[in-house]
Amino acid sequence: MSLHHKLLLILLPLHALLLALAWTGTGPWWPFIALLAAHLLLLGWGAMDHALGLFLRAHRQGRPGTLALTYDDGPHPQHTPALLDLLKAEGVQAAFFCIGREVERHPALVKRMVDEGHLVGCHSMDHPVGWGFISTARSVEQILRGVAAIEQACGMRTPWFRPPFGVTSPNVAAAVRRTGVRVIGWDVRPFDTTFRTTGKRLAWIFGERPKGTVVVLHDTVGPVVETTRAIIERCRTAGVPLLRVDRSLGLS
Ligand SMILES: [Zn+2]
Repeated sequence: MSLHHKLLLILLPLHALLLALAWTGTGPWWPFIALLAAHLLLLGWGAMDHALGLFLRAHRQGRPGTLALTYDDGPHPQHTPALLDLLKAEGVQAAFFCIGREVERHPALVKRMVDEGHLVGCHSMDHPVGWGFISTARSVEQILRGVAAIEQACGMRTPWFRPPFGVTSPNVAAAVRRTGVRVIGWDVRPFDTTFRTTGKRLAWIFGERPKGTVVVLHDTVGPVVETTRAIIERCRTAGVPLLRVDRSLGLS
């Protein structure tokens, strides 16, 4: 039973009770309205932040004192090959959560990821903008088509999935159960698509030590190579081992 289901068992009778009290004039309306607003806020927060684990439990905290590099939304025809070159030169194995549509466009890059020891996971077929609101059936289809595109490209059926935008919902949770995929999240998000400078991106990941264990980046943006190089350098200086995310999470 998900945290959401457990909460519903408490919240629904409470909603009904407060509504009944207000309706019959026994109590004021504001407690019902306040609880309803709080409930809706919680649903929104739970959908946007998978760390809350409201609808499903994602694997997201790895071995303390290590860092795992993960990249979403690729493969990208320019940035991904440059990134793979860097990772190979540095001897670092990372994880790529690929969009099925992009996999179909650049299958050789996915084959290269697997050949060079990286983990490849599914990040849906199309990365739908309204991912948090789509039906269970469509979520299932997005997952299965994405997984099939990866299998077609590299001959390996990936068990790993990362929801688009990290957004979860009861429908996404149902689709995950139905397809049997295992969800990998993150615990550091340096906003690499928003922050302009490597310094800012780096400051988000590191204080004295890394602020988390699994970092999410995007191999679809220009600075990904520069950012990755800086992260690797900082990890080497600080003696922070870089692990592949499944090993860091103790999943394989
Ligand atoms: Zn994404």
